[in-house]
Amino acid sequence: MDRRGFFKAIGAAIGVVASEKAAEAMEIPPMLTIPGREENNPQWVGQKGKKFAMVMDLRKCIGCQACTSACVIENDVPTDQYRTYVPEYEVGTFPNVRKVFLPQLCNHCENPPCVPVCPTGATYKRQDGIVVVDNTICWGCGYCVNACPYDKRFMNEKSHVADKCTFCAHRVDNGMLPACVESCVGGARIFGDLNDPNSEVSRLIRTYPVNVLRPEQGTIPNVFYINLYGELQDMPPTNFESLDDLAREYYKIKSEESEWMILKPLQDIVNVEDYKHDA
Ligand code: SF4
Ligand code: SF4
Repeated sequence: MDRRGFFKAIGAAIGVVASEKAAEAMEIPPMLTIPGREENNPQWVGQKGKKFAMVMDLRKCIGCQACTSACVIENDVPTDQYRTYVPEYEVGTFPNVRKVFLPQLCNHCENPPCVPVCPTGATYKRQDGIVVVDNTICWGCGYCVNACPYDKRFMNEKSHVADKCTFCAHRVDNGMLPACVESCVGGARIFGDLNDPNSEVSRLIRTYPVNVLRPEQGTIPNVFYINLYGELQDMPPTNFESLDDLAREYYKIKSEESEWMILKPLQDIVNVEDYKHDA
């Protein structure tokens, strides 16, 4: 039976059960079970007492796409799909024009519209605030993709289920940083626990004015930006066509080395002489 046929059959079965229940004086239907998820497994429960967040210090982002590449490698993201990326924008008017970079990923919203629309419970928020997708029970309906006001979800072309940033929960649960943070050449991505007043993210949020993307959506994001210009949110980025090339080029460089997690500064990877022009 193909996938469509399978879900049709399931739908029919649910319909039969539902009508039987209705006949039994409107009893409350049984909860959907969650096959594949052990509910005491820390992978799904998260780290109790913590509240993870990321700060993007836009003063430090140089748009190198190291984070984009690290994420692609770490999470085996298909070609032309991204959990995080860094669009670039041109702001100002000639002759006062400059480039600005805006790293983006799932905001791990406090009030995530992607969660209540999920009919299977595959998408949910862990106790430490990380919004995850249990891909063993996602059936690929795409409701969550449509519900995200930030367009930060996609249907994975390999797995055919919903995909997005998980703050690299598999790394964080083992005491490591998300791959994008670990690889950030400029130190623009800072990750940590907002419930710890001594964490770097807490200190930055106390010290600098921060903004979130599209606050009017009421989702209460947990990704904060230092130096975010509001105008960027309505501007088209300038580098989308070349983004994949950039990211894959970096990936190629890194896969020729074996220790991608210990990323070197960009100047150690790229031969600066290659980029010098004759005077
Ligand atoms: Fe869900 Fe989108 Fe918010 Fe991420 S950014 S938690 S995918 S609504
Ligand atoms: Fe839930 Fe998967 Fe449907 Fe998204 S695509 S709403 S995670 S079942």
